[in-house]
Amino acid sequence: MSTDNGELGGKVAIVTGASRGIGAAVAERLAADGFAVVVNYSGSAGAAEAVAAGIEGRGGRALTAQADVSDAGAVRRLFDAAEAAFGGVDALINNAGIMALSPIAELDDAGFDRLVAVNLKGSFNTLREAARRLRDGGRIVNFSSSVVGMLQPGYGAYAATKAAVEAMTSVLAKELRGRSITVNAIAPGPTATDLFLNGKSPELVERLAKLAPLERLGKPLDIASAVAFLAGPDGAWVNGQTLRVNGGII
Ligand code: NDP
Repeated sequence: MSTDNGELGGKVAIVTGASRGIGAAVAERLAADGFAVVVNYSGSAGAAEAVAAGIEGRGGRALTAQADVSDAGAVRRLFDAAEAAFGGVDALINNAGIMALSPIAELDDAGFDRLVAVNLKGSFNTLREAARRLRDGGRIVNFSSSVVGMLQPGYGAYAATKAAVEAMTSVLAKELRGRSITVNAIAPGPTATDLFLNGKSPELVERLAKLAPLERLGKPLDIASAVAFLAGPDGAWVNGQTLRVNGGII
């Protein structure tokens, strides 16, 4: 176990939804930067264990913690587990999220409610806990999406949950005045993960990949680099902002 790794030695980050996709890349990157990392997941225990084992194999510190972010009690226990293992929490990376595409006319109540429960209420649950418990000097990075700018058909409910996250980002940055805690959001564009790829034909994936002037999909590592900037020393003066990380798609 490493005990010190440059400026971030001793800092602790909770990464929600870190068993797969962008969250796993973020957990690995923050651990490489010196954070002790709590690898949160909802269902994929084996994948989360593999992420944590990989971090520890490279000399980092990691703990897995199951919690459905839509459950406020589970989120409280997630923070309890982080504090018990590592002594406190310095960074919350609010990555857990789900996507469901449907025209508004065809989206049923259950589908709408689930998007709101995970993406909006889940972000609220973790933000409330972080606002109460993060150590001074801490960092919060929320997850929006570039669809908030693109606003294509089919993304109505999903984009609405992410627009709400952007609003809470700016409000919480102001509410935390005096504690030297920054609150920002990352808004990825199309990124090669299960969330983006599932249910899309190779032709559609290829077409969407070419939309950005950089003519490729984002990789989880591209997004992790931006999160590491906001969570690390170089991002100290960025506060209350949403950063679109999307190869220039919008
Ligand atoms: P993935 O579907 O690849 O991974 C989602 C992760 O979130 C998994 O680790 C999953 O854990 C976890 N998760 C899902 N529901 C819950 C829950 N209720 N509680 C806790 N964890 C949960 O998604 P991505 O990596 O692509 O997305 C990460 C974030 O980036 C999301 O907020 C998404 O909206 C956003 N985003 C992604 C884009 C993309 O193109 N990929 C574009 C724009 C934004 P488990 O497997 O255990 O359920």
